[in-house]
Amino acid sequence: MDRKIAGLAKQWEEQTILRRRDIHKHAEAGWTEFRTAALVVKALKAAGYDVSFGADALEEGSMMGVPHKDVLAAHMKRAVAQGADPEVVARMEGGKTAVVGVMRFAKPGPVVALRFDMDCNDVPESADPHHRPVKEGFASINPNCMHACGHDAHTAVGLGVAEILAALKDELAGTVKLIFQPAEEGTRGAKSIVAKGFVDDVDFMLGAHVGADRVGHITYNVTNFLATSKFDAEFIGVPAHAGASPEVGKNALLAAASAALNIQAIPRHSQGVSRVNVGLLNAGTGRNVIPGNAVLKVETRGQTTPIADFVKTAAFRILRGAAQMYDIDVVITEAGGAASGINSPELAARLQAIGDRLGIFDEVAGVYPINGSEDFTYYMERVQQNGKQAAFLMYGAATTAANHNSAFEIDEACMVKALQMLASCAAELLTKPVK
Ligand SMILES: [Zn+2]
Ligand SMILES: [Zn+2]
Repeated sequence: MDRKIAGLAKQWEEQTILRRRDIHKHAEAGWTEFRTAALVVKALKAAGYDVSFGADALEEGSMMGVPHKDVLAAHMKRAVAQGADPEVVARMEGGKTAVVGVMRFAKPGPVVALRFDMDCNDVPESADPHHRPVKEGFASINPNCMHACGHDAHTAVGLGVAEILAALKDELAGTVKLIFQPAEEGTRGAKSIVAKGFVDDVDFMLGAHVGADRVGHITYNVTNFLATSKFDAEFIGVPAHAGASPEVGKNALLAAASAALNIQAIPRHSQGVSRVNVGLLNAGTGRNVIPGNAVLKVETRGQTTPIADFVKTAAFRILRGAAQMYDIDVVITEAGGAASGINSPELAARLQAIGDRLGIFDEVAGVYPINGSEDFTYYMERVQQNGKQAAFLMYGAATTAANHNSAFEIDEACMVKALQMLASCAAELLTKPVK
């Protein structure tokens, strides 16, 4: 089986690179992946999968941080202008760009799910002539949209894995679910797919990310996903003439400023690391007006979900307290979130064994503390709560700059290895009966 998959991966390598470049050129940010998702729908259907997308692929009430409907409408139009199937795009109205492909094999066996994220960053791509996407003509043509985190590669690899598994269908058992997720950036998308129940019956859940290390390096035990919460607080006061009648005004700027200082003063936690950041404060309308409006954008993190909840609860209390102090209202809107997470040790050990066995990696490394957040943890949490296994791995991609930087580019040689590794993992899990 390993040799067969190696051959298929090689066979799909060129197509995977072409797909990745096409997705890179037409980069789309969270909840606006209309063209990318339409491409995924088409490829999965062609490979013989049962495909759910639009309202069938996510729970609308759990979508976080969705752009305004006018923004969505403009991006739907752009996707169609850039070649997406208009009927498919229409069914994704409202930003419902999730796609799930399911294939049930003839023999009974476990349910294996793999997750691939599709969104780009809100970053303008470097115009440096030495930047490879510029040099080779596949730099993003969409303003302020750039795949600076490698999710273009994730999507292309996901489609390659889909095709390899479809080619092996007579030899596999159980069910495979391939989840193409919108809006990972800002940890906004996963929750809506989990809420739809797609992983409730999953026995093995896999996720992967391209990493900064060299091609040929793989880390099978990613740990320290920080639980996180992102939220916006809008203070609603009363504007007034600052000279003639300041006493009738209610100052939203002062409430927001006071909240910002106090949020940063939330105590550390003895049980593990925590983070808090007020990243934006916008308030007021002019010099001689008592500011009647203010917006704060805040994120909190914690090593475990309870620690993150402690920070979040304290931040909410401070926001409400500050509003009360200035006799104004505050509206808090959740804009994103992820759980903490840790790889299931048994599954991580199997990934290690497969990585070693394939002989295509010059280093199969163990623990990789991510110290950041990834909403893959929502799938992980649900699957592990059901007593099943989940794991996330990183594959080296020799990137040219830090993630989310305008000059980010991967070494595409990582993709054929990722194809082979992920397809081999899925195939192995899909041939062994559930314990
Ligand atoms: Zn990212
Ligand atoms: Zn990423």
